[in-house]
Amino acid sequence: MILDGRHIASVIREELSQEIGRIVADGGRAPSLAVVIVGHNPASETYVRNKIRACEEVGIQAQKIAFDEDVTEDVLLQQIDILNQDPSIDGFLVQLPLPEHISEQKIAERIDYRKDVDGLCPENVGRTMLGMPSIMSATPKGIRELLKRYDIPTEGKRVVVIGRSNIVGKPMAMLLIQKNLLGNATVTLCHTKTPNLKEVCLEADIIIVAVGQPCTLTEDMVRTGCVVVDVGINRVNDQSDKGYRLCGDADFEKLKDKCSYISPVPGGVGPMTIASLLQNTLQAYKFRITKD
Ligand code: NDP
Repeated sequence: MILDGRHIASVIREELSQEIGRIVADGGRAPSLAVVIVGHNPASETYVRNKIRACEEVGIQAQKIAFDEDVTEDVLLQQIDILNQDPSIDGFLVQLPLPEHISEQKIAERIDYRKDVDGLCPENVGRTMLGMPSIMSATPKGIRELLKRYDIPTEGKRVVVIGRSNIVGKPMAMLLIQKNLLGNATVTLCHTKTPNLKEVCLEADIIIVAVGQPCTLTEDMVRTGCVVVDVGINRVNDQSDKGYRLCGDADFEKLKDKCSYISPVPGGVGPMTIASLLQNTLQAYKFRITKD
C-alpha cells in the first residue's frame, strides 16, 4: 500500500486552514513566516516557492527574504537578529544548503528557538531529545505523522534509519526512541561505515532511508511486509522535456509489492515536510500569542 503523503498533507493543510480561519474570524491576527534564501540554487528556489504557496493557502502570511550568493555571514547573522526581534514574525527559516563561506551551524545557533520552525537549532534538538516541549525537526515530524495517520505502530518495532544527518536521520532516530506511543521503537541508525547494512535491514519492521542516493535500498535488503519510508529526493537524467525525473533512495518499483507500505517519491515525505513546517509555524504563533 502506498503511504500517500500528498493526500495526508492536504488533510493537515485543511485542518490548519480551518483553525487559522477561526483565529482570524475571532479577531486574531494571522500567523506569519519569513523564509530566508541565499543565492539561486534552482532546487532551493522551488522549495521556497512551494513553502510560501503552502503558507498562503492555509492563511499564514509568508514573506521571502532573498540574498545574493556572495552575502557575508555577518550580514546573514544580522538578518537573523532582526527576525528574532521582529514582533510581526512568528517563525522563520533559512533555506539550506548555504554557500560554503557561511557556517550552517553558526546560523542555526543564532535562531531564537521559539521562532525556529525548522526545528534545527541546538535548543530545539536538545529539548526534543529530552522529551521537552519543542519545535520538532520538520521532516522527521512529518514522517511520524504519516505513520500515525496510517495507523502504523512504532511501539515495540525494530526500526532501521539509514542516514545520520542533523536534519533527517539523527532527529528521526531521536523521535522514535522517545518513551511515548509515537516512539517506543528499537532503533538502529546506519550510515556509510555500517558493515552488513543488508543484514541489519533484513531485521527491520520499518526502514526509513535518507541517504540521497538512488536505489540504495534494494529488494534483497527488505523483508516481505516491511514498511519503507523513502526520504530521498534525487534527480535522475531522462528523456523527458525537463531532462530529469525525481526518484527516492529506494527501488520503488521492485519494492512496492513486497512492502506492506511504502512512500513514493515524489508525493510521500516531501509534502509531509511542508505540512510540518506549517504546523510548526502555528505552534510558534501560539507560543508568542500566549506570551503577549
Ligand atoms: P546528507 O547528505 O546530509 O546525509 C546522508 C546520510 O546518508 C549520511 O549520514 C551518510 O553517511 C548516509 N549515506 C549515504 N550513502 C549511504 C549508503 N550507501 N549507505 C548507508 N548510508 C549512506 O543527506 P540529508 O539527510 O540531508 O538528505 C538525504 C536525502 O533526503 C537527500 O536526497 C535529500 O534531498 C532528501 N531530503 C528530503 C526531504 C524531504 O522533505 N523529502 C527533507 C530533507 C532531505 P555518512 O554520515 O557516513 O556520510
